[in-house]
Amino acid sequence: MSDWLAPDVIASAPGRVNLIGEHIDFSQGFVLPFAIADRTYARIRKRGDQIIRIRSAQRSNDIITTSINQLAPGSDGDWEQYVLGVIWALGIQNGVDIEIDGHVPLGAGLSSSAALECAVAFALNNLFACGYSLKELALLAQKAENKYVGVPCGIMDQSVSLMAKSGSALLLDCRDLETRLIPFDLAASGLQLLIIDTQVQHALVDGGYAQRRQSCESVVEKLAIVSLRDLSYSELEETKNLLPEEEYKRARHSVTEIARVLKAVDALTNKDFTALGQLINESHRSLRDDYEVSCPELNCAVDTAISIGAVGARMVGGGFGGSAIALVKTGEIASIQSAIKEAFARSGFDVPRFFTSLPSDGARIEPLT
Ligand code: ADP
Ligand code: MG
Repeated sequence: MSDWLAPDVIASAPGRVNLIGEHIDFSQGFVLPFAIADRTYARIRKRGDQIIRIRSAQRSNDIITTSINQLAPGSDGDWEQYVLGVIWALGIQNGVDIEIDGHVPLGAGLSSSAALECAVAFALNNLFACGYSLKELALLAQKAENKYVGVPCGIMDQSVSLMAKSGSALLLDCRDLETRLIPFDLAASGLQLLIIDTQVQHALVDGGYAQRRQSCESVVEKLAIVSLRDLSYSELEETKNLLPEEEYKRARHSVTEIARVLKAVDALTNKDFTALGQLINESHRSLRDDYEVSCPELNCAVDTAISIGAVGARMVGGGFGGSAIALVKTGEIASIQSAIKEAFARSGFDVPRFFTSLPSDGARIEPLT
């Protein structure tokens, strides 16, 4: 890294992949993500004034300068809003210099935004001895993204970036933020998780994400329930005629997806990867047909992976682009990758990128270097 600043603290936080449980965090559902090995690093130095200076190696290292008393949610800005939002949400009153660098692919559905927020939040919590718990930090980082940046994200990404453990997936109950580590030892089972980045960029800030969330909230209101978590599949079917078709489909995705997460936990506990794969495939069909957040590139990646022998595959993250995941036998990674590459070329899509990752640790303080 550069010699721009000699930091007082360095913290890192990972991106994530969600094994199953997509678009249900705001419905108080269960999600089952794990942290990937790629991390974002925040190097922070305390200043003797109220000035804030920020730069990122992923943004040409251009220095952005502002001050504590200029922090205002919803103000104009670019990537630095994520960092300023965290300073604001944590209530930091002291000036800081912050340097960002990392390896989490941006905008690929692997939650580089949460990795950035959580690295900064974890570092500031340590540097200023704020004493926030991991759960509190997750909520504050989410507040930064919701209120300061203006993205209505749920709580999953920040929770897993802060609380994950290697060799495990994190079952997160989005109703009370209770977590349970579920052993997810892929390597010992001869499996790997292939991440396929379609390289299609999505714009979540004003995209379809908020509309779909509104549809789910409208169902909750019409049925006078607290959240879709409280709705069983049979209850939903009974109320089908009361709901517009689109709202019904959005709710059906949410209700069935919450049930699939719990079945996936059973499958992992029993090391039944065939059952897990089927649940992952069903999740994709539900996101494609009921929630309607997939796109041709994601469907191509998923269909090709399954046709070549993947145990399961689905789109992940916000949708309309970004990444898909495929659970594959280690020996089949290369053939699945080249089949997807060929299928993309045939359809005239951009060349996809591939990553593999094993479940890794959440945010931590790094040695000063
Ligand atoms: P995702 O979280 O899936 O990667 P988002 O659109 O939610 O996609 O967040 C990506 C945005 O987060 C980037 O456009 C950028 O503004 C910001 N960001 C994430 N990581 C970094 C980084 N290392 N440096 C600068 N900005 C970053
Ligand atoms: Mg994000």
